Amino acid sequence: MLKKKARHMAVAFMAGIMIFSLTAVPVQADSISEAEQRGKELQQQKEAAENEKNSLAGQLNQVISDMQEAEEKLTKKQDEIKKAQDELVQAQIQENDQYEAMKLRIKYMYENGNTSLLEILLSARSMGDLLNKAEYVQTISEYDRNMLEKYEQLTKEIEKKEQVLKKEEEELKTLQNDLIAKRDSVNQLLAEKEVQISSLEQQIGENAAKLQQLIKEAEEAKRRQAEAEAARKAAAEAARRAAQAASSSGSSSSAGSSYVSGNGTLAYPVASPRITSGYGYRTAPTAGATSRHDGIDFGGATGTPIYASEAGTVVTASYNSARGNYVVVNHGNGIQTWYQHCSAVYVSAGQKVSRGQNIAAIGATGIVTGPHLHYEVHVNGTPVNPLSYL
Ligand SMILES: [Zn+2]
Repeated sequence: MLKKKARHMAVAFMAGIMIFSLTAVPVQADSISEAEQRGKELQQQKEAAENEKNSLAGQLNQVISDMQEAEEKLTKKQDEIKKAQDELVQAQIQENDQYEAMKLRIKYMYENGNTSLLEILLSARSMGDLLNKAEYVQTISEYDRNMLEKYEQLTKEIEKKEQVLKKEEEELKTLQNDLIAKRDSVNQLLAEKEVQISSLEQQIGENAAKLQQLIKEAEEAKRRQAEAEAARKAAAEAARRAAQAASSSGSSSSAGSSYVSGNGTLAYPVASPRITSGYGYRTAPTAGATSRHDGIDFGGATGTPIYASEAGTVVTASYNSARGNYVVVNHGNGIQTWYQHCSAVYVSAGQKVSRGQNIAAIGATGIVTGPHLHYEVHVNGTPVNPLSYL
C-alpha cells in the first residue's frame, strides 16, 4: 500500500517537472539584439536627416544671399530708370525751349513784316544785305531744324533706354519673386526635416527605454530560472529521499509517512511544522502584504516538500504576483486548502491528489521576506484559522 503511494508520488513528481520545464520563461536575447539593431538604425537615420538639414540650411543661406544680390541690382536698376526719366524730362524741356525760341523768332519775323523769304529778299537794301539776310534766314531755320531734330532724337533715345531699363527691372522683379518662392520652399523642407529629426529623437529615446526594460526582464528571467533550477534540484532530492524511505520500509506502519497528522481533520502540510506567523491581524512584514493574515506561515528552506492536507482535487496551480506559485486543493464539503509562495509545483489543475501527497515545495515567490509556506484553510470561500482544522 505504501509502495503504491510512493509510485503515485513519483509519477506526480515527474509530471510536475514536465509542467515546470514547459512554463519556464525564456531569456529574451533576440529582442535585446533587435532593440540594439533598431537603436543603431535610428541613429543612422537621424544622422542622415541632420546631413539633409545642414544641406537645406546651406541652400537657404545661398537663396538669401541671391536675394540680397537681386535686391541690390534692382535698387541700382531703379536708380538708372530714375536718372533716365530725369534726362528725358530735361530733353523735353530743352526741346520745348528750342521750339519756343523758334516760335519767337518766327513771330519776330512776322511782326517785322518779314513774313517770307521773298519779303526778306525784296527788303534787302543791297546784295550784301540780301546775302546777309538770306544767310540769316537760312542759318536760323537750319539751326532750328537741327536743334529740333537733335532734341527729338535725344528724347527718343532716352525713351528707348527707359523702356530697356524697365524691362530689366521686370526681369529682376521676376527673379526676386522666384527667389522668395524658393526661400519659402526650402524653409518648408527645413521645418519638415526638423520635425523628422525630433520624431527620430523620440523614437531613439523610446527604443533605449525598451532596451533597458528588455535587459532588466532578461536578468529577472535568468534569476527566476536559477531559482527554479535550485528548487527543482531540492525537490528532486526530497523526492528521491521520500522514494527511498518508502521502498526501504516494507511494513504497513505509518513511519514512512512524511506529513504530520494533528488532532483535526486536516494533516499538516509540512513534515516538521514550525509556525512563524499566526492567523489574524498583524503588522505588514513587507510592503504590499495584507495586514490581515488569512493563514499561517510555516518556516522552511526552499525546496522543502509541501503535502496535501487531505485527498481532493487541485482547482488551481498557478502564479500570482503576490502569492507567487500557489496551489488550491478542494476537499469537498466546502473545504479548500491553499499553499502559497512555492518554489516548485508538482500538480496541475483538475488533478486528483491523495492525503499527504507531495504537491509542491517551499519557496519565496510572490511578496515575501524569505522562504516559507503560507497556508490557508477556506470554508465555503472564507479563510478560517487553519489551527481549528489541523
Ligand atoms: Zn503568510
